[in-house]
Amino acid sequence: VSRFENVSMAPPDPILGVSEAFKADTDATKLNLGVGAYRTEDLQPYVLKVVNKAEQLMLERGENKEYLPIEGLAAFNKATAELLLGADNPVIKNGQIATVQGLSGTGSLRLGAAFIARYFPGVKVLISSPTWGNHKNILSDVGVPWSEYRYFDPQTVGLDFKGMIEDIKGAPNGSVILLHGCAHNPTGIDPTPEQWEAIADELEEKGHMPFFDVAYQGFASGSLDDDASSVRKFASRGFEMFVAQSYSKNLGLYAERIGAINVILPTADLAARVKSQLKRLARPMYSNPPVHGARIVANVVGDSVLFDEWRAEMQMMAGRIKGVRQKLYEALLSKDKSGKDWSFILKQIGMFSFTGLTKSQSDNMTDKWHVYMTKDGRISLAGLNLAKCDYLADAIIDSYY
Ligand code: PMP
Repeated sequence: VSRFENVSMAPPDPILGVSEAFKADTDATKLNLGVGAYRTEDLQPYVLKVVNKAEQLMLERGENKEYLPIEGLAAFNKATAELLLGADNPVIKNGQIATVQGLSGTGSLRLGAAFIARYFPGVKVLISSPTWGNHKNILSDVGVPWSEYRYFDPQTVGLDFKGMIEDIKGAPNGSVILLHGCAHNPTGIDPTPEQWEAIADELEEKGHMPFFDVAYQGFASGSLDDDASSVRKFASRGFEMFVAQSYSKNLGLYAERIGAINVILPTADLAARVKSQLKRLARPMYSNPPVHGARIVANVVGDSVLFDEWRAEMQMMAGRIKGVRQKLYEALLSKDKSGKDWSFILKQIGMFSFTGLTKSQSDNMTDKWHVYMTKDGRISLAGLNLAKCDYLADAIIDSYY
């Protein structure tokens, strides 16, 4: 008898499991709106041209594959912090930031969470309700206690700002508040600049620490600077805070696993100490990070010509998503005779639309219409094209009523 006999079958991942089910479907009309990965108008995966150019450069230079230091590629770490905060930010000038290259957004969040578990034992992390599903797993697996703050209001299909503030107020002083820097996943609803200010006031009042998850910089508005404004606001107010970054979406480097964890601190001395401890956490987990994606980012951000090309491609991607958002909205409006207000679709930003479809309605989308999506009612508009908007609108209306 096997010693593994009491190992039960794990449930499929709520997001990545959708792709597995999609692959198994043989229907020609099938549509994968599950995972948040950019597709072209032909619904094909897209490698950014600027990434190809950076890789060409790397090949010509004949760079080696030696181990990186534990903290990652120095040129990447510099570039990623500058992209986040702006190169002339005093936090960077004064060396008040500890940046460690991570295994994309997920690995960077995990490193930050491991730091919290080690140095702030018992401190609770508050996450939005709803949030990206993996946040809970990441925190639970390192033993960090978490609870939720209200975020989404189904009535208005908007932000429950009052509830959010009440829950931040109600959390024990000195809690960590996990915030999505921009393009909130799954709702596509971000606080306004005024609301961000009020959130910062509340965190300050309570001695809470922000932990920003920045997975879509440049993808919400098409502008890298605008999408970092929430983080920059908190940094300029002098918060100590964590910021996780990912290049999966904005540079399309999903499988390269490139991102970073940053900790912003009041002094350079503290930044050096925190960085040394982040390295100590990383070493037994994966020793040191992969080099390929780090070199791509460093080359693109560090070269003004490539950087401009990147920004143009990002605007193109963000623009295509905005285009299908508009088309889907118009299709729903013309097909749905109930008078329902679909304008929330236009107000949401980023890759996703939070449709308000329930679990059983989402099941109908998949079972009857072969539209694959997460069961919380989220659809990835990055996986939709103009040609399929009418079909999707039919599926949504059929499932809704
Ligand atoms: N945070 C959020 C909110 C996300 O949506 C994602 C990607 N879906 C991530 C983090 C991390 O993704 P990755 O590990 O691919 O960078």
